Amino acid sequence: MTALHLAGVVLPAGEHRDVWVRNGRFTFDPVPGAETVSRNGWLVPGLVDAHCHVGVGPGGAHVAEPDALRQQALDERVAGVLALRDCGSPVDTRFLDDEPDLPRIIRAGRHIAAPRRYIPDLAVEVEPPGLADEVRVQARRGDGWVKLVGDWIDRGVGDLAPEWPADALVEAIAAAHEEGARVTAHTFGTGALPGLIRAGIDCVEHGTGLTQDLIGEMAARGTALVPTLINVEHFPAFAAAGEKRFPAYASTMRRLHAQAGAVVRAAFDAGVPVYAGTDAGGGVEHGSIAAEVRALHEAGLPAEVALGAASWSARSWLGLGCIEEGAPADVVVYDGDPRANLDELGRPRLMVLRGRVVGEKTPLPPAGGRPRGPVPARG
Ligand SMILES: [Zn+2]
Repeated sequence: MTALHLAGVVLPAGEHRDVWVRNGRFTFDPVPGAETVSRNGWLVPGLVDAHCHVGVGPGGAHVAEPDALRQQALDERVAGVLALRDCGSPVDTRFLDDEPDLPRIIRAGRHIAAPRRYIPDLAVEVEPPGLADEVRVQARRGDGWVKLVGDWIDRGVGDLAPEWPADALVEAIAAAHEEGARVTAHTFGTGALPGLIRAGIDCVEHGTGLTQDLIGEMAARGTALVPTLINVEHFPAFAAAGEKRFPAYASTMRRLHAQAGAVVRAAFDAGVPVYAGTDAGGGVEHGSIAAEVRALHEAGLPAEVALGAASWSARSWLGLGCIEEGAPADVVVYDGDPRANLDELGRPRLMVLRGRVVGEKTPLPPAGGRPRGPVPARG
């Protein structure tokens, strides 16, 4: 493997540094003979999509063809996402781990839902007394995470309702922790949240129903939040689709949509760790991380915090390391400072993943500066 040399402003510290890559890892000790692939720009630890689904298509359809799975992962990487947390997939995507050009995938196994309380065929469905056993199964299938469906429409009630009693959650989350896995849960409404948070859940997905009190409990416990704001944009459409049969559900979804930004802002203000996830695979296209970072910023997170939520903060949370001695060499280089202009996220110049340049290789400008004006034609 060729050793690489990059120079630029290393984020989040913000200092101009020289960095080398040897055997797939960063080092600050110069490596003789390394190939220089960047002389300037901003060096951002590989982006993370902290909530997406490889293997799920529109409407919750299973995507099983290897090329289609590869494409979902590739669409993420083209956007600078070099690691993703898969928040539940009905298909086996392990073969993607052998493809060095594709992002690292941290899996949560399959979704676990109560019977007939989720998108048909997407989750493993179990009655509450079987939850802890199924959590152990999925913990062993995944990469350190388990995904519960915490609430969903209860057609008998006509509105969102919790899926699990509190005692089943206590037992299940303890079981996951015993297996060395963290647990996260889908929640839209408020009712499921007290039981999940007090049972010691590690993360909440969407979390649109969070109240100030629950946010305070999450902050005290260090429970993370992945708001998936660009997916929450679909709530009015969900409301319209359910309006006729489930008017209470429709009105709940509209209310949750209206308060989503304020919930994120309140969580940030309270000190809840917030991470960027798109919920791609389903209603959102893979490769949408820049839109989610912008949405977090528009909700009130400073641009640097919103960027960190999709980079250094998320990487630390997931145990991936950043641009530091001995860490895996995953970095995205931008021409401009993405903290000053989040639009830079749409134009990655260079990506190094597992210590190799991936994607199109942009020609390096000559030493001493970028070329001014057009390159003269030959002839
Ligand atoms: Zn999801």
